[in-house]
Amino acid sequence: MRDDEEINEAVNKKDSVIRQLDLFEKKQDLYILPIRIVIKFVCKDSQCKGHKMSILDWELGQLYRKVIKRPNWQAKIKAKIMQEIFGENRDTYIILGNMVSHPQTFCVLGFFWPLKSPYHQMHLFT
Ligand SMILES: [Zn+2]
Repeated sequence: MRDDEEINEAVNKKDSVIRQLDLFEKKQDLYILPIRIVIKFVCKDSQCKGHKMSILDWELGQLYRKVIKRPNWQAKIKAKIMQEIFGENRDTYIILGNMVSHPQTFCVLGFFWPLKSPYHQMHLFT
């Protein structure tokens, strides 16, 4: 379970992001997960010892709400992350943010996962 402070910060941060999107998208109900989804990864830094960050992504919140009643919901969330967002046909970026009260602590606010460009795909197979 998350502590209240962390949840409040996440809500505030998402609120300000949503406000900026007002012109383009309808405001939707925010859904903060009652569970913590954590991603571990290694970055390109040769000194990297690995990173472990909470994911606050809104889309995963929606997915969580959809699958929570099923027995294998964890597997469904993991599949979404590993097979879709980080799928082989995606050029995925992780969008990071930090907490005001914990400036050293970064978390994942979302993902940008466009399809790989045809150029890159051709490159893979040549
Ligand atoms: Zn690193």
